[in-house]
Amino acid sequence: MPEITREIFWNIGPVTKVSMYVLAALATGVAGYGFYRHWLVWRRGKPQGKFKLAPLSQIARHVLLQVRIARIPLAWLSHMAIFYGFIVLFIGTVIVALEDYGIFGLVGIHWTGRFYTSSSFLLDLFGLGFVVALPVAMARRGGLTRVRPSSKPIDAAILWLLLLIGLSGFVTEALRIAHSFPPFEQHVSFVAWIMARGSESVGISGEAVRPWHLASWWLHMVTALAFLALIPYTKMLHVLVAPVQIAVAELRNSGHLRMVSMEEVEATGRVGASEIPDFTRQQLLSFDACTQCRRCESACPAWNTRKPLSPMKVVLDIAANGHRDGSLHGDVISAETLWSCTTCGACVHNCPVLIDQMGAIVDMRRYLVGEGQVVGSSQQALRTIAARGNPWGLAPDERDAWAEGLDVPRIEDNPTPDVLLWVGCAGSYDRRNQQVTRSLVKILKAADVNYAILGKSETCTGDPARRLGDDFTFQAQAEANVGTLNELGVKRIVTQCAHCFNTLANEYPDFGGKYQVTHHTAFIQQLIDAGKVKLQRDATSSELARGASSAANGSVVFHDPCYLSRHNDGSAPPRADLAATGLPIVEPEATGCNTFCCGAGGGRMWMEEEIDKRVNLARWEQLKATGAKQVAVGCPFCMTMLDDASKQDADAGIAVHDVAELVAARLVD
Ligand code: SF4
Ligand code: SF4
Repeated sequence: MPEITREIFWNIGPVTKVSMYVLAALATGVAGYGFYRHWLVWRRGKPQGKFKLAPLSQIARHVLLQVRIARIPLAWLSHMAIFYGFIVLFIGTVIVALEDYGIFGLVGIHWTGRFYTSSSFLLDLFGLGFVVALPVAMARRGGLTRVRPSSKPIDAAILWLLLLIGLSGFVTEALRIAHSFPPFEQHVSFVAWIMARGSESVGISGEAVRPWHLASWWLHMVTALAFLALIPYTKMLHVLVAPVQIAVAELRNSGHLRMVSMEEVEATGRVGASEIPDFTRQQLLSFDACTQCRRCESACPAWNTRKPLSPMKVVLDIAANGHRDGSLHGDVISAETLWSCTTCGACVHNCPVLIDQMGAIVDMRRYLVGEGQVVGSSQQALRTIAARGNPWGLAPDERDAWAEGLDVPRIEDNPTPDVLLWVGCAGSYDRRNQQVTRSLVKILKAADVNYAILGKSETCTGDPARRLGDDFTFQAQAEANVGTLNELGVKRIVTQCAHCFNTLANEYPDFGGKYQVTHHTAFIQQLIDAGKVKLQRDATSSELARGASSAANGSVVFHDPCYLSRHNDGSAPPRADLAATGLPIVEPEATGCNTFCCGAGGGRMWMEEEIDKRVNLARWEQLKATGAKQVAVGCPFCMTMLDDASKQDADAGIAVHDVAELVAARLVD
């Protein structure tokens, strides 16, 4: 008895077969030319030294499991079905080709028996998933899910093309089965078998199937080859480029920006990115991996408040101009677009193919800064960071004035503290944030912590300068501060500023400054857990200058700072601290690592915000919608922005406090 199999190219004559090969060669040539054009763009980028493959876990999580797509379950289910359907159907095509060319035979394998039945079954199963998932993907473009992917006509056309490929494949198979109904096909090609029965019921079976089968086969071939030819010219490019991008992307802490080296500046004659060759090869490849899913855009605070910034559009605009000679600034990407970014990192954290949109924006800002094109009072902030060590230009001698009469040890008085309290510019100079510093000091004293402050020797970490794009001012600040800290032998730092925390912990090691840096919310949690801080869970303290009664009675909502909860995964400790106060905690829709920016990051604190809605007010509405009577923060930038919003919405009666204030108000003496 012959082994179970099927005739390859059944009903396909030699002329048809040759025609197909001619068409296939044409489609491959068109696709090859398109890929070559992309390759030329990638080659224009700066080389990055030694090639490094990403850890296998990164490839498994983002290529095989697509974990970021899973944040929208229906999108994930449909994308996984299309992705794996595509792969299995492609493997099926390769198997057929290898069998037809006799390559399997050379190594003693034949597409017969169990190999045939199991592969045919899998092809039908995954093919079914593929065609069922495509209408879901189409419906998502119509608004079925929270995030609506790009819905340009070509995107819709591609999905229809894929559906046609899948359906024509099934129809072709069904008509072949309807010719003679081989009994085993009932169990292996179960989808096509049902369709074959349908074909029979309308009178198309036996020899009558031949012309229909040929027409369907041609439709399948032409659509499949058209898809192949279109890949490099449409967003389907991501099918091939995204896995490569994920396999080479360096998934580092998103708060840790790439250093500008003087050698690089000397070699290129400019700082930052202006033209295509100013980006690295990996960056240029990553831009081509964009799936146009709009996850970055829908999470972007600038886009959500109708600023002229879409991180997706930045990526696509750079990619679309890959062959351009000359600057991208102006016509392609406006300065207004670049300055709208708060460097909140929402785009980076949501991108399923690990594109660093924020890094590209900062690179382009660096060029603007290098050319002296800085906007508004941020120019003044940059100047005064360099000249006076703080962005407001206040007297360096006044830096520790907040501590007057509080018996706060300076490092000169306590040269070997267990912990250095890094106060930061806002905590030192800004009146509202000075109150936070005082509360933190009260907690440290209550817990009997051996601490000290740098006092007048502390200067700005340089965070705003780096995010604004002035990396050399940042580097000067970093070198000065690391020099001071290393000379003093500092090992452990606590800071109440999320931005200082990020810079000290993630960026200062590049300058030889390696410290154990703890955000104050995490430090407070440690003190509470160790029993060094005891709290009364019913607040009546007069320490809360405003909103004391609400503090006692209402619930609290924590606004996660981007530089704590998103860039540095620090959303748990502030909640633990709040839980210890006994206040009921409510959560806003955008919370934890999915927080929504307060609008001050990326140096935006020192820029006017005149276009449409203010980011801090948009965030305020989200927090207010929880019904909480007070907002807790863990960053002086957030404090400034949300305190400002609370004043504009004074009737709401919602107070804004730092976590340290809420804890200090409940200290048991
Ligand atoms: S970092 Fe934030 S503000 Fe900037 S583009 Fe990304 S999401 Fe938008
Ligand atoms: S950049 Fe990333 S998140 Fe944004 S649209 Fe492209 S693939 Fe999606």
